[in-house]
Amino acid sequence: MPYAVISDIHSNLTALEAVLKDIESRAIESVYFTGDAVGYGPSPNQCVELLKKSCKILIAGNHDWAAINYTSADYFNDMALHAITWTTDTLTSENITEIENFKLLKSSAERNALFVHATPKDPENWDYLMSKNDALINFEHFEQQLCFIGHSHMPIMVSVDTVTGKVITDKERMELKMDSRYIINVGSVGQPRDNDPRAAYAIVNDDTVEIVRVEYDIRKTQAEMESVGLPFKLIDRLEYGY
Ligand code: ZN
Repeated sequence: MPYAVISDIHSNLTALEAVLKDIESRAIESVYFTGDAVGYGPSPNQCVELLKKSCKILIAGNHDWAAINYTSADYFNDMALHAITWTTDTLTSENITEIENFKLLKSSAERNALFVHATPKDPENWDYLMSKNDALINFEHFEQQLCFIGHSHMPIMVSVDTVTGKVITDKERMELKMDSRYIINVGSVGQPRDNDPRAAYAIVNDDTVEIVRVEYDIRKTQAEMESVGLPFKLIDRLEYGY
């Protein structure tokens, strides 16, 4: 049975709804979430509530933890800090409790997979996994066949053949083979940064994993951000996907 992995929603409800509708239209029933429900966007409460209703696993991202003061936001830039302060003030106490229940990392025996926001190695450091070499360090820090991550907002897939040691990277699609292990960054639903403004997520089938792109009403999210006074640069970047 295929399943979907979504990440980095960042309070962009319109993008999240478009992605969940796309998943539903493909008759995919299981959705896993790898962190950053909130931060940057205009609808933190609605996103937390919809994720809770829709996903089998809920992972904490650095923005989620920053919003509930579980991790420092000192290294955030001014825009991210502005948005996270607004988010903390806007979240209901029920949704703060929901975020407190998000896991730093969680495995699924059924999927033979680990789900984590940043990296399987020291996940609470929020390091970025951007390259083949970053991935090779991290393969030693989980046991499952698959590891799904988010955080950089840029899809990347790295596989290692456990027999030959051959390493393959891709950004869109990979065959899944019994003798190989995989780290897959599924990209971002709510704030893509790979110069493609469409929402991104991953579909995993028995023998393939692929990144899917979904158009959504960017102007709607931008108008909502404007109405709650979020920084112009955060509003602007959505239409360029960076
Ligand atoms: Zn993020």
